[in-house]
Amino acid sequence: MPATGDDRLFMAGTVADALAALAERGSEGAPFAGGTWIMRAPIRREAQAPFYVGVGRIPELNAIDVAADRIHIGASVTHARLAAQLAGVAPCHGLATAAGSAANPAIREMATVGGNLSTSDFSAADLPPALLCLDAEVELATTGGRENLPLERFLATRRDLDPGTLVTGVTILRRPVLTGHARLPLRKAGDYPVAIVSLAVQLNQNGVVEDGRVAVGSVESSARRWPGLERKLVGHPLDPRQAEALAEAELGAFTGRDGVEAPGWYRVQVLPALVRRAAQAALRSRS
Ligand SMILES: Cc1cc2nc3c(=O)[nH]c(=O)nc-3n(C[C@H](O)[C@H](O)[C@H](O)COP(=O)(O)OP(=O)(O)OC[C@H]3O[C@@H](n4cnc5c(N)ncnc54)[C@H](O)[C@@H]3O)c2cc1C
Repeated sequence: MPATGDDRLFMAGTVADALAALAERGSEGAPFAGGTWIMRAPIRREAQAPFYVGVGRIPELNAIDVAADRIHIGASVTHARLAAQLAGVAPCHGLATAAGSAANPAIREMATVGGNLSTSDFSAADLPPALLCLDAEVELATTGGRENLPLERFLATRRDLDPGTLVTGVTILRRPVLTGHARLPLRKAGDYPVAIVSLAVQLNQNGVVEDGRVAVGSVESSARRWPGLERKLVGHPLDPRQAEALAEAELGAFTGRDGVEAPGWYRVQVLPALVRRAAQAALRSRS
């Protein structure tokens, strides 16, 4: 066991070491990645875990593998690395924007993909909507083995996962889609976004939408897809103004959550403008 000078933290060198340490501690142990969420537990009046297993130095969890048909992102990859390494890699324009615009530069250097997906009480996370649009799968590991879950199911069940479960990575299939990500922070940077829209569309040779995904974050307690709008986008050219009007007609799909940064109704009202901006970003990513 590498010394950390802190008997509450064990820095794991491999996934197997991390899983063994988590299994040994049972409900007293939890993974520690960038620590950006854990460090603020006292501010949120939440208890920290009695024991943490550091997963930030495990080489396997720090890899980004870009293959012809898929991309695998290790759970300990930071937002800063995600933004830098996936910029210009199709179909990750929206995902790289999400990673590169979340929080502030210091947090992005530390905050990881696995930590962002695992903070179940954090509604304003940027990566879940961007990854939902890419049909991402989350890889989970326990001492019993590994399994892949569609991100949608992971988000719905993450609170109930066994405490010995580690997110080890995320896989995206490289579909021929254009992607965009738009978010509304109240200040220019550093605060949580009031609402987030991510979009992925597949266009035919005439520029008509054949298939589309739209996902919304920060409006409700957890990010989710917007199927009513997705259906309406299909069969038309991707026109940002028209997408905004279609979104306006579908706002009944959401009940916004009230929060300190904004009331629920406001989060819903800004969605059409964010849909327009996400569509503009997706079209710009073509050039
Ligand atoms: C000032 C500030 C502004 C922010 N703004 C934004 C923003 O605009 N957009 C945004 O998306 N986020 C924002 N965040 C949140 C930030 O993205 C999260 O704190 C971060 O993603 C959590 O990742 P981490 O690696 O630091 O996780 P940690 O703090 O290490 O862990 C968070 C939780 O995830 C669990 N965990 C970590 N890794 C794993 C794993 N591999 N498997 C299973 N469980 C795991 C931990 O046990 C813990 O419960 C902001 C944070 C701060 C402090």
